[in-house]
Amino acid sequence: MLEEKLKAVVRDIPDFPQPGVVFKDITPILKNATLCSEITDAFVEYVKSLDVQVIAGIESRGFLFGMMLANKLGIPFIPIRKQGKLPAHTIAESYKLEYGQATIEIHEDAFLPGTKVLIHDDLLATGGTVVAAAKLIEKLGGEVAGFSFVINLEFLKGEGRLHRFSNNVISLVD
Ligand code: 5GP
Repeated sequence: MLEEKLKAVVRDIPDFPQPGVVFKDITPILKNATLCSEITDAFVEYVKSLDVQVIAGIESRGFLFGMMLANKLGIPFIPIRKQGKLPAHTIAESYKLEYGQATIEIHEDAFLPGTKVLIHDDLLATGGTVVAAAKLIEKLGGEVAGFSFVINLEFLKGEGRLHRFSNNVISLVD
């Protein structure tokens, strides 16, 4: 089963990026091309039922399967990046971190108003990052059609914050 395969390869890295944090390292997944295809196929199966027109992936690990998914579906991929990284005109959204704040941006011509957008990231923790991403999509007049993650850290209860945008939330490992 895909969930078991993923659990077997995702690594726990203690004290990264700071002491006390256990980081879920997804890079071992990327060495296994068959597993990457299985992940993409699982997302494709789910997304097919949602009438999604665009995949928006969040820097940087959201680019990995976000782009594979968009390509497999034959639809556009839109990067959402950290402040100052996107070259053309952008709009921005800031959100709180445990200490301080972060800002993400999207190109203002990323898609047309009314477009149905699926937001993808590698991992859902508190939900702060994807909530900010969903606000960017709505600011541009898009409709959040759903969210997809490889991993959902359920104990942080991020998923509950997403339902005001969409009830369509898929994660491959909880
Ligand atoms: P949130 O905003 O939901 O608290 O944090 C999720 C964001 O932080 C995602 O963009 C994700 O890539 C990153 N992140 C936080 N913790 C981890 C982790 O343990 N592993 C990975 N791969 N990403 C993490």
